[in-house]
Amino acid sequence: MAAAVSKSTIKSYSKVNLYLEVVNQRKDGYHNLRTLFARINLTDSIFLKTRLDDNLIKIKCNHPRVPLDQRNLCFRSARLLQQEFNLKQGLEISINKRVPVAAGLGGGSGNAAAVLRGLNKLWGLKLSTKKLVALAKQIGSDVAFFIYQEKFAQGFLRGDKIRLLKQLKSLKLWFVIILPGINVSTPLIFRQWDKYSSKKQPGKNGILRKNSRLTGLTIPEHDVKMLTSELKVRGRNVRPEFLFNGLEPVTTQLYPEARRAKSALINEGLNRVLMSGSGPAVFAICSSRIQAKRISKKIQNKYTTWQVYCVSSI
Ligand code: ATP
Repeated sequence: MAAAVSKSTIKSYSKVNLYLEVVNQRKDGYHNLRTLFARINLTDSIFLKTRLDDNLIKIKCNHPRVPLDQRNLCFRSARLLQQEFNLKQGLEISINKRVPVAAGLGGGSGNAAAVLRGLNKLWGLKLSTKKLVALAKQIGSDVAFFIYQEKFAQGFLRGDKIRLLKQLKSLKLWFVIILPGINVSTPLIFRQWDKYSSKKQPGKNGILRKNSRLTGLTIPEHDVKMLTSELKVRGRNVRPEFLFNGLEPVTTQLYPEARRAKSALINEGLNRVLMSGSGPAVFAICSSRIQAKRISKKIQNKYTTWQVYCVSSI
């Protein structure tokens, strides 16, 4: 009897952070965070095909900046499952990348989660979501969020302790996202944050004071729970001051182009504008799909070296 065809194609999502507060550096070198993720429909496609003759993991990708060896997060997902369950089969992975790389949109993490979920089905592992999340945490901080098929979630600890926001299920946000032609190293941004924050004076809650020192601006109180309630009540009309990213002053100081991208959105009359993750992608929440489409086209025509996307939460 011929062996069953063992291949599948999966969608891999990305995210923006509507809120990102760096709480402190941990003993293990990572940082404790409070964040609010919104999953977006800017996606990669990942094709998986089992290799029955050996246990090698082979990767192809259409994007030159994505590593094809053990550094690839898809490779690490597949290898982890092979090791954990003593599996003998190998895997071919073909990644069709549309999500910009090293942008703050979590494309690599989305890929890692997609491979874990995809192989769970393809290889008939029958792992629970809880087990998949435990594996995801071993690969990277943002991977756990993508295991859940949820639009919005809060993230704590390394960003990998996930609280699903089912109360926001019916909320659809339209975004313009700009990737201003530069790539940012996440570790570098956190190192810079450590440098700045070590100079901070202890404030009522520390974190906010040190960010205001960076920008020279007075920053109002921020809280991920307050933003969650605000989104529940006001939806896309969320008050701009509730959106927050504590890494933004660091990245925009190092990469002024990220600040220019923010200004381009603000100049179009948008005021719910923020950097995502460690950047340099910046986004604006729009009032409608039509507005998001119109403004993304206009900015793309004006700034031809930037990548501009019109996307929604999904
Ligand atoms: P985050 O917001 O989670 O920090 P990011 O959008 O800043 O993520 P990614 O696009 O996930 O960053 O990639 C970060 C780095 O990971 C890249 O520089 C790349 O070398 C490496 N990488 C490994 N595997 C992948 C993958 N499958 N796709 C993209 N990048 C990958």
